[in-house]
Formats: sequence, C-alpha cells, structure tokens
Amino acid sequence: MSLFKKMDISDNEAKASNQDTASEHVKCLIIGSGPAGYTAAIYAARANLSPVMYQGIQPGGQLTTTTEVENFPGYHEGTTGTELMEDLQKQAVRFGTDSRWGIATKVDFSSHPHKVWIDDKTLIEADSVIIATGATAKYLGMESEEKYKGSGVSACATCDGFFYRGKDVAVVGGGDTAAEEALYLGSLCKKVYLIVRKPFLRASKIMQERVEKAANIEVLFEHNTKEIYGDGVVEGAKLIKRKGESDETEVEIKIDGFFLAIGHTPNSDVFKPFIDTNEAGYISTKGASTHTNIEGVFACGDVMDSTYRQAVTAAGTGCKAAIDAERWLGARNS
Ligand code: NDP
Repeated sequence: MSLFKKMDISDNEAKASNQDTASEHVKCLIIGSGPAGYTAAIYAARANLSPVMYQGIQPGGQLTTTTEVENFPGYHEGTTGTELMEDLQKQAVRFGTDSRWGIATKVDFSSHPHKVWIDDKTLIEADSVIIATGATAKYLGMESEEKYKGSGVSACATCDGFFYRGKDVAVVGGGDTAAEEALYLGSLCKKVYLIVRKPFLRASKIMQERVEKAANIEVLFEHNTKEIYGDGVVEGAKLIKRKGESDETEVEIKIDGFFLAIGHTPNSDVFKPFIDTNEAGYISTKGASTHTNIEGVFACGDVMDSTYRQAVTAAGTGCKAAIDAERWLGARNS
C-alpha cells in the first residue's frame, strides 16, 4: 500500500511525481522524507529555496514503522508515527515543497551544479543538496519478527519502552546500543533479558559494569533467538543456548516486548563515491554544522547521527541543513 494512502494524503496535495522530466535544474534538492527531510523542506521552502524532495525507499522514514509517538514535543496526548509524518508533510507542502516519489540511485558531486539521478532515469541538477536518507535498523530476519513488528517487536527502546512499564522484555545485542537500551528499559520494566550471541559483551567497559550492576537485567550469554510467539502480541521467545555445541539447549522466556539493538545501517551507500563517511557509513559533517566534505551538499538526521537517533534530533538537524544551505547559496550568489 502506498504511504499516501496510509497517511490519507491525496496525491494532489503531495504534488507527486508526474512532473518529472528527463533533466531539471533546482535550487535545493532534498533526498529523504523522515523528520529530518521534512523539517529541512519546511525551512527551505520558507526561505524561498523552492525545495524539491524525493521521498525515498520508505516515505515518511523509520517513524512510520512505529505505532505511538509520545516524545515529540507539541503532541501532548501523543500521536502515531504515521500521523506525525503526515503533519510534517502537510506543513512542508503548505509552504511550497514539491514532494515526489522516487529514489536517488546515482549521484555525481564532482562539479557544480550537483547531479542526482532519480530511479536511474530522471536527472536533477541541484545548486544545493540536502541528504536526509536516514538509517535502517537491523533485524534478525526471522519471520516471527516481521509478524509482531509494532505488536511487541521494536528497534527503538527510547521510542517504545514506555509502553512496557512494569512488564518483562528482552533486548537482543551485545554492543553499546543494546547495553544502553537494556539500562533504559531496566528503569521502566520489571525484568530485562539481554540476549547476547557471544560469551561476552562488546559494549564499552563502563556500560558493561552498569549492566552488571542493574538488579533487574539478566544477561543471557551465548543465546540466539529462534522465534517469537504470542496470540496477536508478543508473549514469549524461544532461544537456543550454545547453538551448534554438543550441549545445545532450547530456552523459553516469557516477555511482552522484544527489542532489537544489533545496529543500524545508515543509508549512505549511493553517496559514498563522493561523500566522506565514518567506518560505519555515517556521513561525516563539519563541526556542529551539516556541511559535508562537498561544497553545497549537506547531511541531516540519522544518516549522519549515530548517537541520538530521535525524531526530534533529526528534525533539529534538518532545520540546520536548510539554514546551512540557504546561507551557502546566499554567500555564493552575493
Ligand atoms: P555494534 O555493532 O557495536 O554492536 C552490535 C551488537 O549486535 C553486537 O554485540 C553484535 O554481536 C550483535 N549482533 C549483530 N548481529 C547480530 C545477530 N544477527 N544476532 C545476534 N546479535 C547480533 O552496534 P551498536 O549499535 O551497539 O553500536 C554502534 C556504534 O555506536 C558503536 O561504535 C558504539 O560504541 C556506538 N554507540 C555509542 C554509544 C555511547 O557512547 N553512548 C551508544 C550507542 C552506540 P557480536 O558482538 O557477536 O558481533
């Protein structure tokens, strides 16, 4: 189903894609449509940059895969991820953002204007480019994981942990994210199982110590998840202890929530021939700005932020990217 249908926005309002031509010149091209992309669009549109946005693989971004959102300022009674994105999109379109379907499949940032190909056919030549392509949470790849997404399976404890207050949950992973999410959930939940596939945690020493000290976190070393089960919602998980060893055993835990914390993949591959990233693929930006190593190309949101990864922080960097683009264009033209 298309996101516009899901979001109940008409194709007219979205000014969707029929206007594509073989080649087009724009002042400000925004790639990606999560909170970062839409906020960049709101600011760029209000600054008369006539932004053109291509929505990408997952229109609306990661938030559209979550249910309730209670920590985005302004929604005092909470909202859903889809409604929040719908509101952001309406606000961006209201000020003149040209929001289109399409995925950036190739770029050439070697000369100005920058070139971006959409769906391998439409060439956009852009004076400035704002990359807001986000990151994708890694999942284990189990069928049951898909089945319970939004009904007990989540990849964001900060977003969804609140709904499991006083309940038992599990976190998968042994890195800093998993330790952090387990500690966060430990402050809300009755019990947290930390499911670690190795006999040790990869997390930093200080995080390991905090996990060890938490009375309600039980670390299950050398455990892999076989499946999640439940009647409509998550009720438990079947784990394999010491998989492949002679003493391999099946273990069952009763849980209400199953949190993935096995890493994120920033959606930066298409830009890598030109744009500097760190080892994990997150786009490097200069100081506190959103400037990348290429003049006139800016990055915001989860594709450049491995630390906070919140809708509101992504929106904040989206605002910064639009202001950086506006100032950069202004200085160039003056
Ligand atoms: P990491 O890549 O560091 O850790 C991923 C964890 O998930 C590892 O324990 C890995 O196991 C496990 N894992 C991966 N795939 C599977 C699988 N299929 N089944 C079971 N377990 C799996 O990712 P993080 O998101 O934790 O951290 C990313 C970076 O961000 C790191 O550099 C981290 O230090 C940093 N970070 C820093 C924070 C801070 O300073 N406050 C907070 C969060 C992250 P294995 O060890 O066996 O490979």
